Amino acid sequence: MILTFNVKHNRDFTDELKKARQVAEYAVRTHTLSSKDVKHFGLKSVIANQILRKYSRNKKIKNVGHVNLTIPNQGIRVDREKQEIYIPSLKLTLPYSFRNDFEKVNQIEVDEQYAHVSVTIPEKPVIQPQTWLGVDRNATGHIAVVANPQTGKVWKLGKKAMHIHMKYREIRRKLQKLRKYRLLKRIKDRESRIIMDLNHKVSRKIVEIAKKDNAGIKLEDLSGIRNNKKHTKSFSYGLNSWSFHQLEKFIEYKAKLEGVPLTYVEPKNTSKECSRCGSIGIREAKSFKCPSCGHVDHADANASFNIALRPPSVGGVGQLHVDRDACKGSTDTPDREGQLRERRRPRNSVMGSRKTRLIVRSDAEISVKARTSEASAEESMSVVIHSKGAGHPSKARTVN
Ligand SMILES: [Zn+2]
Repeated sequence: MILTFNVKHNRDFTDELKKARQVAEYAVRTHTLSSKDVKHFGLKSVIANQILRKYSRNKKIKNVGHVNLTIPNQGIRVDREKQEIYIPSLKLTLPYSFRNDFEKVNQIEVDEQYAHVSVTIPEKPVIQPQTWLGVDRNATGHIAVVANPQTGKVWKLGKKAMHIHMKYREIRRKLQKLRKYRLLKRIKDRESRIIMDLNHKVSRKIVEIAKKDNAGIKLEDLSGIRNNKKHTKSFSYGLNSWSFHQLEKFIEYKAKLEGVPLTYVEPKNTSKECSRCGSIGIREAKSFKCPSCGHVDHADANASFNIALRPPSVGGVGQLHVDRDACKGSTDTPDREGQLRERRRPRNSVMGSRKTRLIVRSDAEISVKARTSEASAEESMSVVIHSKGAGHPSKARTVN
């Protein structure tokens, strides 16, 4: 699997980025593949070559949006002991703190603020699960409740989320009233980062449990979540749907790396049915009671048992949401990507002590630009995994 880690480089590459754009524009006009032709722009040939390849070969590109500096594997030195990457052509040293078990650095894309370091991480072979864990995701209460029907054990994870959300909601309201919009944006970003960290922790824990219990993971298929009555109401005062989506992506890629199978089940009535006898029970806040068999349980735990016991929905095991996304060809096009990058441009770096963001890519060179939310999360991130061969390669090429 290819993961992309975004590392802040703390350098001013305005000049080089300008040259890169000029080279790209030249490439679109002339379709040349020779770096000699663009020598006069003064960009290092190792980088110019990459830009020419992208822009000269693709005859469909008419307008050049934002252009990054792309450095191929051959132009990158890695010192694993020091945990440093060196790019000779830019005289740039990048200390990294992400996982050191990557096979190789495929390439690095440099923009104003970040170096997007794309590395190949070995995937473990898929295990044959003895059982399935059900994972119930929630907008209120715990982010996720996990149940193993084989052992009867329940894990409630991510309790802090609601607390964080409430705290920040209050701050956001105040800032809104005071019309302090810049500050409001920073606060939203901060909240997104905290929730992201939490989602990382929760997803890691879920995959850990699955490995330990020799289990696969079942999640509800919440792809239609925004129109889903079960959740629209709770979202109005609970976590946003992007957080759900993010957690899902994190679980998916972490499971994939560890060889834990994952599948989706039909979400209908998972919180209403009794996990013991199947009749419709009574749910009040977080408690569940079954009038038929007398079963009493924590409502989310009951739901997670239901999820664990359901058969996989359409597509069966291994049909991940992201595969479907990839088939829709929802990957980059130059113009769209240009716009996104415009919006994503750094607004000074006041708001980040966190250095590394993470994006997951596929084996199939598909770039990711999953947006995490409608409103807030320009800076927060999300993950898309594509399986090998998913999507159309020509659509999947990264152009920026
Ligand atoms: Zn019952």
